[in-house]
Amino acid sequence: MKELLGTKGLLLNEPLLWEKGKKGRRGFSLPPRDVGSFPVEKELAGEGPDFPDLSEIDVVRHYTRLSQWNFGVDTGMYPLGSCTMKYNPKTNEKQAGLPGLSGGHPLLPASLSQGGLRLMFELEKHLAEITGMDATTLQPAAGAHGDLTGMLLIHAFHKSKGAQRSKIIIPDTAHGTNPASAVLCGYKPVPVSSNEKGILSVEAISQVVDEDTAGIMITNPNTLGLFEENITEIARMVHSKGGLVYCDGANLNAVMGVVKMGEIGVDVMHLNLHKTFSTPHGGGGPGSGPVCVKNHLEPFLPAPRVVEEGGRYVLSEDYPESVGKVLAFYGNFGVMVKAYSYILSMGPENLKKASQLAVLNANYVKEKLKGTLHLPYDRPCMHECVFSDKYQMTNKVATLDMAKRLMDYGFHPPTVYFPLVVHGAIMVEPTETESMEDLDQFIEAFKAVAKEAQEDPDLLYEAPRNCKVRRLDETTAARKPCLAG
Ligand SMILES: *Cc1c(COP(=O)(O)O)cnc(C)c1O
Repeated sequence: MKELLGTKGLLLNEPLLWEKGKKGRRGFSLPPRDVGSFPVEKELAGEGPDFPDLSEIDVVRHYTRLSQWNFGVDTGMYPLGSCTMKYNPKTNEKQAGLPGLSGGHPLLPASLSQGGLRLMFELEKHLAEITGMDATTLQPAAGAHGDLTGMLLIHAFHKSKGAQRSKIIIPDTAHGTNPASAVLCGYKPVPVSSNEKGILSVEAISQVVDEDTAGIMITNPNTLGLFEENITEIARMVHSKGGLVYCDGANLNAVMGVVKMGEIGVDVMHLNLHKTFSTPHGGGGPGSGPVCVKNHLEPFLPAPRVVEEGGRYVLSEDYPESVGKVLAFYGNFGVMVKAYSYILSMGPENLKKASQLAVLNANYVKEKLKGTLHLPYDRPCMHECVFSDKYQMTNKVATLDMAKRLMDYGFHPPTVYFPLVVHGAIMVEPTETESMEDLDQFIEAFKAVAKEAQEDPDLLYEAPRNCKVRRLDETTAARKPCLAG
């Protein structure tokens, strides 16, 4: 193996700014005042907030050092399954920073926001085309929020028919946000198990679906990284009972330009722009979870909506059946700009190619690591593959130990212990933006970790050894959070 990626470096310790500050230090210089003083200054004088006094170099070093403790897609491979941590081309950031777009205030009248409104209008159309749906709302702020919005639409649909229903079918391979959203809308989630191939069977659904079923929420591709092959037949069955089909499309990165969900029975789905369409995520920054629907759900979409009237774009509130607003103003506009820029710069052929490469890369990792790691579902996967710690557990080395040790080798760990259907799950999503050399390096690192698990498990119990902090007590961190630093 070539030199390890992640073991060396000058990572300096860094105290809190309050510990560094010294009275009287200054981090700014203002030009001399060229107007006289006014009495208001006296009123503002006195004790200010308890901020530390710091010099400019103190501040520059503090934040630069903290930034070096960070790890992101711009630093190295981040194979976090279910999260699509792919590289986001910088041009999309540049477009989002254009003054005309970044400076537009949401309270500007439509006449002064034609560019922004047109961008939203066209983005809605592009997303509808990519998914094979009829209409889109860009309002929801993230995937979970899109789930909830989708459920509100299903709820409004049944209400408009005058017959509310009480149940939503949710497979064990769905994302955890799905049952949460169903419950928030007053539905009872009905769990259903996937079969030995890791997908839903028509029989399993036929046993639970009835006239009280409001719908089914299918994560597709599911959280095992597998495509729900029976979705069309399942959709037909749910529709025959008057229910609707919700697709959690956060994993769209696997199927762009390949599968149109609207053509295989889906009535409503959400997408994660911050996963698939080029917004960096993971640090709590803004996301966007647009929801696409077929015609019969369009009347219920959140308002206001952008409409075109004789070549002008306006915001219309004229949707009497709308579920109402789900976010302040119109959604996270900056994320929309990045997605729009990404879609236009890629074009249909390259979006399709991105998905094909994402699937190829995941299958490459799967084939190279199976044997080293236990592969519970040994069949072609989509954009991610799921292993388990079954082999390593014979040496009492668990998924968490391997994940921590990978950090010593310079990789962000994969997703661990999810999905729940696989005991000790290790979920790897390499994404299309990793080169074969980078994938090989990751594979070699994982093989080296597995070898250590056999020969010297202590190395893993103590991992990470080379990181800024060692193994953390995650339980106490969650139960007794210390928010002051
Ligand atoms: C990430 C994800 C979500 C939740 O998205 P957030 O933007 O984190 O709220 C929902 N479903 C699936 C399948 C996901 O991968």
